Amino acid sequence: MTILKFGWNEIRSRQFEPYAKQGLIPARVTAVFSWQYEIISSLGKGSGEMTGKLRYDALYAAKRPAVGDWVAARPINDSHCLIHAVLPRTSCLQRQKVDGDVEAQVVASNVDVCFIVQALQGDFNLPRLDRYIAFAASALVAPVIVLTKADLVDEAEELRALVCMTHPDIPVFLVSAVTGTGIEEVREQLEPYKTYAAVGSSGVGKSTLLNVLSGTELMKTAQVREDDMRGRHTTTHRQMFCLPNGSLYIDTPGIRELALFEHDGLGGSFRDVEGLARQCKFRDCQHMNEPGCAVQRAIKAGELDEKRLASFAKMKREEGACQSKQILLTKKASKAKIKRSTVHYKDYVRGGGNKSWKLE
Ligand code: GDP
Ligand code: ZN
Repeated sequence: MTILKFGWNEIRSRQFEPYAKQGLIPARVTAVFSWQYEIISSLGKGSGEMTGKLRYDALYAAKRPAVGDWVAARPINDSHCLIHAVLPRTSCLQRQKVDGDVEAQVVASNVDVCFIVQALQGDFNLPRLDRYIAFAASALVAPVIVLTKADLVDEAEELRALVCMTHPDIPVFLVSAVTGTGIEEVREQLEPYKTYAAVGSSGVGKSTLLNVLSGTELMKTAQVREDDMRGRHTTTHRQMFCLPNGSLYIDTPGIRELALFEHDGLGGSFRDVEGLARQCKFRDCQHMNEPGCAVQRAIKAGELDEKRLASFAKMKREEGACQSKQILLTKKASKAKIKRSTVHYKDYVRGGGNKSWKLE
């Protein structure tokens, strides 16, 4: 078994040197089941769990192993490993946790291409598409748009043209798992040893797409509910699969509401609005009714859809909220560090000063 097949390369090999010296082996996380991990290494498929130290150090969920991560592991028997460290991520798709906490949750890591999946029937929504594009861009992952269920709508080609017009530099595919339309085109995109992640709401056909691309039923899909045709959601965990051509494909559970955690200039998904905004008379123009507003001028001239400005404004507001969350998180982190140092110090005193104590 060679780990090169799973995306291991020379850069990672160099990063791994200090761990190799400790007798650890590289492994890639292929699935996460709460505290248990499914991993793949030169020893084959196995399971893994974090060492007590890693658990302790990985104070935040985002620091714990996620699907797609490369980790440094110590095999303790034929099939079980202890995970000592998570290797630096080349990319990291993350969102805010749904329970209202300020923590980030890693959806998938070390991803090369993100398939943004939207169903033409019951799910088609341009502002949401913008959010997913920003989500991919802020993670440094190249986006590809896949519009599914083309067989269920009459105006599929028109909708694809609309998406292409809004995002001229992103590849857009129109597919149907039922008729097979567009599947070959998507398959041609897949390169061996590269990692792809499918994201989108639940029921849009992500697992179906994976099954069709792989030619087998890798992921169980739900039956469509008669009433809304949106399909019941069955994907309960994130999992990475190896497709017959050697590409790696991560299926993620549906993201009901994508709350962006990290914003990076809105990820280039509003290049049109941003370009106009730079021409506004005032640098802090809110594009409401200020004099010399190039955005409003474009709307009046019919060059920019008013809805684009509305979703741009919404994303801007979210970006602001995100920044305050980051500040909160930093504060939370330093509080936790102080608390931890105090615990260390107590140990130190209790141990008669023998234990090493350092302020982290
Ligand atoms: P996921 O939650 O995004 O993984 O969605 P699934 O792959 O489980 O699909 C949800 C439902 O939509 C299933 O019942 C699929 O059979 C159905 N579905 C998926 N793709 C298509 C398609 O291209 N056309 C039609 N008509 N139904 C589809
Ligand atoms: Zn303006």
